Amino acid sequence: MDGSEIDSITRSLDDRKAMAEVIEARRDAEEQEPPELSIIPTPEFLPGGIVRCRCPRGCGFHYDVNPGLDAARERFRVVLPADPASTDVSDALTARAAARGDAQRARIESAIAEHYEEQHGAEPR
Ligand SMILES: [Zn+2]
Repeated sequence: MDGSEIDSITRSLDDRKAMAEVIEARRDAEEQEPPELSIIPTPEFLPGGIVRCRCPRGCGFHYDVNPGLDAARERFRVVLPADPASTDVSDALTARAAARGDAQRARIESAIAEHYEEQHGAEPR
């Protein structure tokens, strides 16, 4: 076996490895849950940190939130073990941020659903 044969075999092993990685990545992607459906339209980002969600029917209704200001106003408490590691602090803050995001999303969804019912007599979607 000369050098070029060894190169060729090595290259095909690399190709197989690369292909296996692509297949594995594709399988992982297929197993991901699809994103949750939401009635929240694509928001506009206005100066001052305001996030504006307009009625998708273009009637002029909009619901504004200011996530930065809401976060600054909110007092919150995180629960940590007696001798917390930095990952405990990070996990607690991440969980808190996720809960805040969920709550905000629920507020926007209910405002839009309420508007739809009052003004358009229908469920958004
Ligand atoms: Zn509307």
